Amino acid sequence: SSFEQFGLDSRILSAIARMGYREPTPIQAQAIPVVMRGGDVMGAAQTGTGKTAGYGLPLLERILPKANTSASPARHPVRALILTPTRELADQVNENLVKYAADVPLRVGVVYGGVDIRPQADMLRRGIEVLTATPGRLLDHVESRAVNLSQVEVVVLDEADRMLDMGFLPDISRILKLLPANRQSLLFSATFSPEIKRLAKNFLRDNPAIIE
Ligand code: AMP
Repeated sequence: SSFEQFGLDSRILSAIARMGYREPTPIQAQAIPVVMRGGDVMGAAQTGTGKTAGYGLPLLERILPKANTSASPARHPVRALILTPTRELADQVNENLVKYAADVPLRVGVVYGGVDIRPQADMLRRGIEVLTATPGRLLDHVESRAVNLSQVEVVVLDEADRMLDMGFLPDISRILKLLPANRQSLLFSATFSPEIKRLAKNFLRDNPAIIE
């Protein structure tokens, strides 16, 4: 099997080839078709399994601008949002997404706490379509109106169990309530604890694909 089977855009396929990915990992083989058809996902996956590409590649495909829409006004609302527990993971996810999106007209960026907020706010005001963020800093940007989340089509909770362990549930709940109700949601977690199941029940649509 290869990445060709999924029907991904040729510009995404060439980026994957440049990165040296030859065969999808098991989680990618399961997640990519579901995400591409717009389904919600609850995935059990540790780092190192290829989960970032498992959601990142089909997520880009979902929001890829169709031909002839590039003449639309210079507004670039956030259309895909990836929440992570730490700045390290946020950076790592963003670096991968930047590479996957190298040949497509989507702006990719990251915000997290512990660093100067102003350059991030400037970047957000210029427009970012694929935003990776830690929850607290994202809410700071929401409050200062540097970013608006009302156009998000796909949200990813990466390492959801760690986000709950770190006390981010109130922030995550606030963020998810700012998103359109008819969005696509993808939740990845090392374990499916009762707390994670409750989060999924509250914020994923019925019958998410379970990927283990
Ligand atoms: P992740 O689990 O998403 O952190 O990915 C772990 C590492 O595997 C990263 O360095 C990825 O770039 C790499 N990777 C992801 N998918 C593939 C693949 N299908 N083939 C080879 N390497 C991959």
